[in-house]
Amino acid sequence: MNFLLIGSGGREHALAWKLAQSRLLVPEGREPGKIFAAPGNPGIADHAECITLDVSDHDATIAFCEENHVGLVVVGPEAPLVDGIADALRGAGIAVFGPSREAAQLEGSKGFTKDMCQRAGIPTAGYVRADTADEALAALKKFTTPVVIKADGLAAGKGVIIAESEAEAIEAIRDIFGGRFGSAGAQVVIEEFMRGEEASYFAITDGATIMPFGSAQDHKRVGEGDTGPNTGGMGAYSPAPVLSPMLRGQVLERIIAPTVRQMAEDGTPYRGVLYAGLMLTEEGPTLIEYNCRFGDPECQVLMMRLEDDLGEILLACATNSLAKLRPARFADQTALTVVMAANGYPDTPEKGGAIDGLNAAEAKGGKVFHAGTAQKDGQLVANGGRVLNVTAMGDSVTAAQKIAYEMVDAIDFPTGFCRRDIGWREVEREAK
Ligand code: ATP
Repeated sequence: MNFLLIGSGGREHALAWKLAQSRLLVPEGREPGKIFAAPGNPGIADHAECITLDVSDHDATIAFCEENHVGLVVVGPEAPLVDGIADALRGAGIAVFGPSREAAQLEGSKGFTKDMCQRAGIPTAGYVRADTADEALAALKKFTTPVVIKADGLAAGKGVIIAESEAEAIEAIRDIFGGRFGSAGAQVVIEEFMRGEEASYFAITDGATIMPFGSAQDHKRVGEGDTGPNTGGMGAYSPAPVLSPMLRGQVLERIIAPTVRQMAEDGTPYRGVLYAGLMLTEEGPTLIEYNCRFGDPECQVLMMRLEDDLGEILLACATNSLAKLRPARFADQTALTVVMAANGYPDTPEKGGAIDGLNAAEAKGGKVFHAGTAQKDGQLVANGGRVLNVTAMGDSVTAAQKIAYEMVDAIDFPTGFCRRDIGWREVEREAK
């Protein structure tokens, strides 16, 4: 079978690496299949043929799949899903891993998710949706500070403001309705502030069957000790020991299962990966947000630990036959990834800096996934904000962290940097 993988980040490199190990690529007695990646990156090119295809042109994407006998399309990022690529492909009879445009609203609209949670009785922070600044300012009076002000739509992680004072909240509301986040800010969600530790929980579902797919914790801030501006993520590890088996059971029962049921009942069944951002509050796990795709860099650590055939799982999800598979198995070990970013990230990352030493790094026993890299005249160079995901396995977070930083130290990337404390919470707990 042939696959088409959409995306170009470290997440997609990890998916390509794992898909390349799938039995579906070498069906008995038939021609071996291949992976196409649109657009891919130099790391993905080790496992796939990188192609130029405008995936926002759904007809062109369907034509490519038909001409190249693509049996499964795997969509990495959220934007094409929110744009309806899964609907277009399914409509043309092509299997696709990823939710419909309507179901992707779980990520595309924070208000949509909050309303769904309310209908399904899912624990989440109290909220109000507002269509105008006046409405939002009136609603604000019902909240105490700190209060959370969110642009409703996709804003690349920047549309959330934790306001410490009423004045800050008012400014945030005026900013959002003033157009700071474009159409993503056409509506505002005001939320109660929750206290606790954050963790991520993943599940794959075909709309009926749910396959738990691991847990992780990430590090959003650019600086050590979780300081400085927010980023796409500077590192992650899986599993998240803070999500004990008991808490994982609660997440499945109180959050994931009612979501899958509610989405089906609403006529918008969810198919794909449900990535739940959770706050572990004193009252138990509470939903902060859903994402409709794998996290980046959380996907990298999940793929390192996955022991089953990714191709078979994603195809079963796409064809409503997850019930036929056994639950996915993951290595008991911890996987930890350190993001190496280009100097200047997240504001103005420096492009073009040379990168060497990846083989020496992998010789330490882990895997380096490419994110924003490019080949220029035979030299690997930085070509984006987050550039490499240096990933290792170990018997504890401390052990995995040690190997990951040995790998980082073997990499020659003078115009790059990384946080030196990925996994710090668990490393501290493990030391006790
Ligand atoms: P990202 O892309 O970074 O996940 P997002 O724009 O999708 O962000 P959310 O995940 O809803 O937005 O919020 C981003 C961050 O803001 C959360 O990870 C959490 O740290 C904080 N946050 C959001 N909602 C709340 C809340 N109600 N109480 C406390 N913190 C919150």
